[in-house]
Amino acid sequence: MNKRWGFSTTAIHGGKIADTHKSVAAPIYQTATYYYDTAEEGARLGQEIPPGFVYTRWSNPTTRALEEKMALLEGAEDALATASGMGAVSCAVLTALKRGDHAIAPSAIYQATYQLFAEMLPSYGIETTLLPDTDTQSYERALRPNTRLLFIETPNNPMLAITDAAKVASLARAHGAMTIADNTWATPYNHTPISDGVDAVVHSATKYLGGHHDVTLGLIAGSSDFIKKTKKQVRILGTTPDPFGAWLVIRGLATLALRVERQNATALRLAEFLAEHPSVDRVHYPGLRAHPGHAVAAKQMRGFGGMLSFEVKGGYGPSVRVFERLEIPKRATSLGGVSTLVSHPAGISSVHMPREVRAAVGISEGLIRVSVGVEDVDDLLGDFSQALNPAHLS
Ligand SMILES: *Cc1c(COP(=O)(O)O)cnc(C)c1O
Repeated sequence: MNKRWGFSTTAIHGGKIADTHKSVAAPIYQTATYYYDTAEEGARLGQEIPPGFVYTRWSNPTTRALEEKMALLEGAEDALATASGMGAVSCAVLTALKRGDHAIAPSAIYQATYQLFAEMLPSYGIETTLLPDTDTQSYERALRPNTRLLFIETPNNPMLAITDAAKVASLARAHGAMTIADNTWATPYNHTPISDGVDAVVHSATKYLGGHHDVTLGLIAGSSDFIKKTKKQVRILGTTPDPFGAWLVIRGLATLALRVERQNATALRLAEFLAEHPSVDRVHYPGLRAHPGHAVAAKQMRGFGGMLSFEVKGGYGPSVRVFERLEIPKRATSLGGVSTLVSHPAGISSVHMPREVRAAVGISEGLIRVSVGVEDVDDLLGDFSQALNPAHLS
């Protein structure tokens, strides 16, 4: 990165495509393949890392521009785009591990990542431990001689628990293991785990990076060596993104800082409002002093993010009434876009976890998760206020 440039300048001007027509917006190379004129030129393109573009499952100019931008924003040597966030998680994890290895991840992580660790990796002969919390000491206790990967997600889903990225990364390094962080919720605007010593970062660009609920895409950032190895997996497994999707994320990144700044500010206001509300039992937001991860979040994050969750007094019934009375937020899976979204983890997004696991990680029946959008904060506060009116709750 040009060291003089800040986050927004880099997000807008970093990793440009050399376009002969000098278009200001990135062109979309909507092509599946690329021609060559001579057999010799074709042979040169056949190398593992070709000097040009060969076939879009391998690489594409629009996608490559996104990857270069993302590497700059995460402070990584290189980056790689995938067809979805799970494409990024699974290809990165499968690159880090082989049969006979052991990996550690918390139970309270993204649903499909949980299933990858709980079901799929063990079926390939990879041992896994799923932790009941995200404490560094729990990672340490779970270490085995064959541990090769410590996976973190901070803040996590849906309790907003914070993991100390620097501590887990140094624990892993001392043990000869690598650390991968799912940085979807924080975004590189709020947290750059690689600067804390984490080896690689994965993203669902479907969320904040795209930011408009209109694209499914993933990104991996890390060392040149790790990205090269992961690229091989992606080419075999075929988790390549479409160039148009990559273009949408390039467009999203241009306003990432603006959106996340607004989302940080609105989420803090909403968390403070909910914490004072008589119909609310508890609020989980790392920006609140009472949150157990507040000190670590304040140390490693630039802002506390746009995600929060809260527990409605009285449990399941009253929380469903609040959930259904909200008028502005859409009741939908996903997060990180311009529209505020709410979900009810006991009802939908954490049903993959057995009830005991859910209870152990603190997901109560009255929990509502909020992904704060960029609407006017007073409209959102007014809407939560009417939905939480105690007159409607019993
Ligand atoms: C959404 C999400 C994913 C999966 O991303 P997709 O783009 O839906 O495949 C992974 N991790 C986290 C934290 C997510 O929120």
